[in-house]
Amino acid sequence: MSKQVTSAYIHIPFCKSICFYCDFCKMYYDASLVDEYLDALEREIQGTYRGEKLKTIYIGGGTPSLLSYDQLSRLLRILSCLRQDEKVEYTIECNVESVTKEKLALLSQYGVNRLSFGIESTNPKLLQRIGRTHTMQQVLQVLQMAQELGFKNINVDLMYALPFETMEEVQQDLEELVKLPITHISTYGLILEEHTKFFIDQVPTIDSDLESSMYSLICAYLKDHGFEHYEISNFAKKGYPSRHNCNYWNNGEYYGFGLGAAGYLDHVRYSNTRSIHSYLLGKVRLEEEQLTKEDEMSYELLLGLRKIEGVSKEQFFNKYQKKMEEVFDYQHHLNDQTLIDEGGFVRIPEDQLYVSNEILLTFVGGSKDE
Ligand code: SF4
Repeated sequence: MSKQVTSAYIHIPFCKSICFYCDFCKMYYDASLVDEYLDALEREIQGTYRGEKLKTIYIGGGTPSLLSYDQLSRLLRILSCLRQDEKVEYTIECNVESVTKEKLALLSQYGVNRLSFGIESTNPKLLQRIGRTHTMQQVLQVLQMAQELGFKNINVDLMYALPFETMEEVQQDLEELVKLPITHISTYGLILEEHTKFFIDQVPTIDSDLESSMYSLICAYLKDHGFEHYEISNFAKKGYPSRHNCNYWNNGEYYGFGLGAAGYLDHVRYSNTRSIHSYLLGKVRLEEEQLTKEDEMSYELLLGLRKIEGVSKEQFFNKYQKKMEEVFDYQHHLNDQTLIDEGGFVRIPEDQLYVSNEILLTFVGGSKDE
């Protein structure tokens, strides 16, 4: 039985400069390449999309806001073939240096109602250290512009555990961020990924105890300042969790369009090529994984445990006609309190969230029957 597809992700892989930590699918902006890319993206969407009404659309990157006004306008026209639910959450990732009032007005005209800014830090010294070039003054100006144009749902990304970063610097970032007119904060602890400048330069990572203290500080501070902690790394004002990302954590299906994009359709998880050459030639799909019911149950648990509320045992049963405790052996986690079974949900307790990856890893490889 097919699930209802309600979300689409669209990848725009172009950036003006490359951040030192970045492992995303991205390349330098080139105006004529963008035009060719939009042609190929249109072909992919037209050949894949089946006309479902979508509840969430997410344009990510790269830096989608870097597109020129005309390119952005073309992208939005291409995406207007995606039918939107009347309460659609329509997000675009932006950087403050490339956003203009005209581009924001255009986005609003096409129904984009959520902006996500890669701020990463409010500290000029740290921004320079990670290869980002914006200033807080630009952040404040752009957020004011967005507010004036009626954008009410705004995310900012915050990075921590940066090389040589101190607790005081994390505290300062938090103090500055909560003053901004935003509804959501996504946090990222630095990971040294291969092929990044940081990895090649072998920059020193900070001590894991310090990183754990930073995470605890972030959780406590944001909670005290009106942000609900709803997923391991995500915090939202009441009513503003990212519905697009919640669909991922609820193991819902979604389209993934564009270079390097991942999607999940008809029980198949797929990823697109990261080669721009192949993508422009229409050789879009790189890998496909046909999921069994066991695989889907594992994903349901692994993704669902990222949510602070955890996995609903009732919903699990309704989806798979099997009780979660019969499928997965997690009694030992309950015994040592690395999982809690309470109120119909199984969840990771707050004091274990920092080591959640270790807990989740114990379920990789699947269910009791495998
Ligand atoms: S972090 Fe974002 S802006 Fe920086 S290079 Fe990567 S995709 Fe581009």
